[in-house]
Amino acid sequence: MVRGLLNKLVSRSLSVAGKWQHQQLRRLNIHEYQGAELMSKYGINVPKGLAVSSVDEVKNAVKTAFPDAKELVVKSQILAGGRGLGTFKSGLKGGVHIVKVDQVEEIAGKMLGQILVTKQTGPQGKVVSKVYLCEKLSLINEMYFAITLDRKTAGPLIIACRKGGTSIEDLAENFPDMIIKVPIDVFQGITDEDAAKVVDGLAPKGADRQDSIEQVKKLYKLFCECDCTLLEVNPIAETSDNQLVAADAKLNFDDNAAFRQKAIFSLRDPTQEDPREVDAAKADLNYIGLDGEIGCMVNGAGLAMATMDIIKLHGGTPANFLDVGGNASEGQVVEAFKILTSDEKVKAILVNIFGGIMKCDVIASGIVNAAKQVALKVPVVVRLEGTNVDQGKRILKESGMTLITAEDLDDAAEKAVKAAY
Ligand code: GDP
Ligand code: MN
Repeated sequence: MVRGLLNKLVSRSLSVAGKWQHQQLRRLNIHEYQGAELMSKYGINVPKGLAVSSVDEVKNAVKTAFPDAKELVVKSQILAGGRGLGTFKSGLKGGVHIVKVDQVEEIAGKMLGQILVTKQTGPQGKVVSKVYLCEKLSLINEMYFAITLDRKTAGPLIIACRKGGTSIEDLAENFPDMIIKVPIDVFQGITDEDAAKVVDGLAPKGADRQDSIEQVKKLYKLFCECDCTLLEVNPIAETSDNQLVAADAKLNFDDNAAFRQKAIFSLRDPTQEDPREVDAAKADLNYIGLDGEIGCMVNGAGLAMATMDIIKLHGGTPANFLDVGGNASEGQVVEAFKILTSDEKVKAILVNIFGGIMKCDVIASGIVNAAKQVALKVPVVVRLEGTNVDQGKRILKESGMTLITAEDLDDAAEKAVKAAY
């Protein structure tokens, strides 16, 4: 609940700041092969497939799962889209290949353990630790389907487009009139009418209309029952034998639902996540990694966002959102400080604490302890105010650390930006 609210607040702050890069807030993202398995449990048509993590497994997998296949689709599994048009750092083009069965081992070998760079991974790319082998379907029509949560209607929204395969951003640019949006009343659930509207938007050429309506309803059922925040099937495709199939699967889940979606949340793959966020989650910190140079340690989501905005105002960019919370322990403060200092991009750290329930001396002790454990290579600007501020300042002073002190929020942000650039 708190995190959900926080996420909403952050995205508001991000939009206020305007120039912020789109950031993925904390939520669970699972691999395509896992999403396909989940969809299959809900009766959604998916291609037959099997994920392998080493070349040694390929031969056996092909023999047992696809005894009669001539060709297979070999798909790199990373937690980012745009794989088809991606490029490996090795030079290999395409994260999705359709090959003859006797070439599956070779192409899988070229993908496994390699770094795939796509439009969505950033230049650093993501490592492929599994490849998904799928039966090759003869696709005659590729469409776009997604369910997301819509702010305006405050509920689920189904987005469909009769053209698919490429990213929704490209579709929105090239075929804005073909994109249809159907909001669903979350209390009433999806009606036959809603589902029919979606199917008409997809406009399948051969697939049975009633079957397609049932598929849409099943997709919606999964979305609700599994606490998804996004379910994107691009392409949802038609095969030459007139079947509607989900040929790709991108599923995100609400972190707030982790307690009741244990099986799904056990699928979290930390190798694909921002390592800073993985560490922060372990320490139970409200942390979101960003791309800037100023590391922030703040208490309270509101103050954290105000701090980020003021950094921006003074011409800097924050490296993160971090709310140490109202009752963080000294240990958590140490962890938080370690995450900030281990971030290579961070050129200055700004500690902005307004002590209320959180006491300034706890923060100060945390900073001093962290500094003993990690080498401090960047300037630290500290602004402390509120409960136990004198003790806090004394602890910092007696530690002998070189700190830049600031009087108020504005002063602190200005000093941090000066120190960083
Ligand atoms: P993405 O690029 O990360 O979104 O990966 P996709 O799973 O969407 O795969 C990229 C493209 O590969 C799709 O848009 C399809 O055109 C193609 N593709 C995937 N599976 C099949 C298949 O079974 N048959 C055929 N013919 N094409 C496929
Ligand atoms: Mn796709």
